[in-house]
This record gives sequence, C-alpha cells and structure tokens, in this order.
Amino acid sequence: MNITIDQDYLIRTLTDLIKIDSVNPTLAAGGAGEAEIAAFIAGKLRNLNLEVAIHEPEPGRASVVGRLPGTGGGRSLMLNGHIDTVDVAGMAAPFTPEIKDGKIYGRGAYDMKGSVAANMTAVKALVEAGVALGGDVLIAAVADEEYASLGTADVIERYSVDGAIVTEPTELNLCPAHKGFIWLEVETMGRAAHGSRFNEGIDANMRMGRFLAELERLEQSLRTQAGHPLVGPPSLHAAIIEGGSEVSVYAAHCRLQIERRTIPGETEAQVIGEIQQIIDKLAAADPTFKATVKPFFVRDPFEVSAEAAIVQAVDRATTRVLGQRPQLIGAAYWADAALLAAAGVETVMIGPIGAGAHAAEEWVELQSLVDLAQILAETAIEYCG
Ligand SMILES: [Zn+2]
Repeated sequence: MNITIDQDYLIRTLTDLIKIDSVNPTLAAGGAGEAEIAAFIAGKLRNLNLEVAIHEPEPGRASVVGRLPGTGGGRSLMLNGHIDTVDVAGMAAPFTPEIKDGKIYGRGAYDMKGSVAANMTAVKALVEAGVALGGDVLIAAVADEEYASLGTADVIERYSVDGAIVTEPTELNLCPAHKGFIWLEVETMGRAAHGSRFNEGIDANMRMGRFLAELERLEQSLRTQAGHPLVGPPSLHAAIIEGGSEVSVYAAHCRLQIERRTIPGETEAQVIGEIQQIIDKLAAADPTFKATVKPFFVRDPFEVSAEAAIVQAVDRATTRVLGQRPQLIGAAYWADAALLAAAGVETVMIGPIGAGAHAAEEWVELQSLVDLAQILAETAIEYCG
C-alpha cells in the first residue's frame, strides 16, 4: 500500500496552529484556552470527512476528536496530542511561525502542535490512500495536558479504544515508560507560647528541621538506586516550607510540601510509607515530636510491555521509515500516556525532534514530523488491520 505524506499540508497546518494562541489559562492568566484552536482543527478534520466532535469539560477548555471509522473487526487506535501550550513570557513573536533551515519556530512547535499536525497529516494520508482498515482511527487533540489533563481525562470517558500513541516529543525514539509524581504535605505540630516561655512552647519549626535532616538522607538513598532501566532512579525535593506566625511566638505548625518523582512499579502507599517511617522514628526518639503526612496530588508513572501489539507495531513502522530500529527511552516528565494506560488502553509514546519545550526559543525539525506522520500511518495500517 502506498502512503504519501503531504508535507505542504503538514507545514500549513502547523503554522496555522502556531498562529492561534492556545496558552493554558490555568498556567498563565489571560491564556486563550483551547476553544479557538479546537474549532480550527475540527474544521480541518471535517474536510477529511471524519466524524468530528468537540467536547468541553469546562467552558473554553475544548478537545476535538475525529474518527475515521473502520469496517469492523480490527483494533481501534487513538493518536493523542495536546493543543494547549505553556506561557509565552520572554518570547519575541510566539504566534508568528518562522521556517528556517528545516526547522519551524514558535510557541508549541515542539510541545506539541507539530505532533498534532503530524497526527492530522497521517490520517489525511490514510483517507487519501483509500485504505479500508478494520478498526477505527481516532485523532484526539486534547485540552489542558500542561496542567490537569482535563482533556484526556474527559476523552477516555467518552471513547473506548484498544491502543493509543501519545506523540509527545521523543526525538523519534520509542518511549514505553515515563515517571510519575506525588505531591505530599508533611506537617509538624508544636505548641504556641510566648517567646519567653521555653518551658511551655514546643517549636514546630525545629521539629521540621529534624524531619528535613532525615528526608535528605532518604533523598540521597533514592538517587543512588539503579532505579528503572529506562527512566532511572526516583527522586524528591523539599519544595515549599512555611512555619510559625510571629517572631515572639513559638511556632505551632510547620508545613512542608514535597514533590516525589516516582518510577514504574512504585506505589503511592509505598511512597507515603517511606515518609511515615521517618515520622515514626523521630516520634520514638522524642514523644513531643508529632507530625502527619498526606498526599494531595498523584500522577501515576507509566510503563507498557515491550510485547504489547502497539509497541511492536510502532517499532516495526519506525524501523521501516527510519531504516534502523528506534532507540528505547524513558521520559522523565509525566504525560497523558499514564491516564490512557490506567484506562486499560495499551499506549506508547513517539514524537518529533526539536528543542525548547517551555523555553523562550522553541522549534521542531520538519523532517522528523514528516517521518512521524509516515510512522503513524503505517502503524495504523498494521495495528487496525
Ligand atoms: Zn507536551
């Protein structure tokens, strides 16, 4: 079967996407959100004769799903990419795409409007080749990945698919794993008293100091583990600390927010257990030491088996398109792949080459987008049967 990637369409689509402000409004006050970009993508997908729907889990926070229906019997596949971007502070012309030396510049070019354009171009190639696939191919262009993943969380409630490819940037490497994270709050409890009354006061800040000394030992031991073969060791940092109320009062409370980056196989219970163990040890040494730990935001790590059909299909297509087997990598960042995997969808990540995600200069390599589109179209043909 002859699949032709329309490079001009890909470039035009990407430059049009860059021109539309879709800064995540939760991350940056005044960000435009996804309504306009979603409407634009919906129009393009309708032109390809897909069945198109826009979903708004919150007003102005829109995702688009386009469906190329299969003839039945095959596996269904979702090409998933987010359409929100991070802030544009410090960028001279974030919404003015520029093409230079085979690179396309602009906010979101790399993370990840280039990938969304490649997803669309791949499906266009399938439509134009007139292939009759057994399973459906869905394009999901989703809202809010950069903050709370409203988009993918909503879309997986509405559509059930067998496999998914999240086309976050991976430099055309095959990415079957990424890290997760857990945000935890530890609070030490003291007793407020006038600053002169050392017999009555219990200093919550001093007790947090003891906790921090132990936490640093844990941090050191985590980072020296071998960890996961693709994503490396877990880590943590003491991100925000706040304690006491007045300079002449013993601090009654001290609160610490910890970010703990997790690797595939680690559980929330295990991570909380490590922290609880420190608290228990300090309480055993001093009955006035009182502290609690509670998680307040959890994002699971992600890992898919190398044997999964979606991994095999992407591996083979990439090998054909690039002329060599893709390297396996793990991503240090969290992505929507974990949500899809948690919903029972076998998921893998592959995306373009570029630089400057979340930075002042952002670009994506055009040829890597053409290759990506080819890989996605060929994967769909094999996977959806
Ligand atoms: Zn991204």
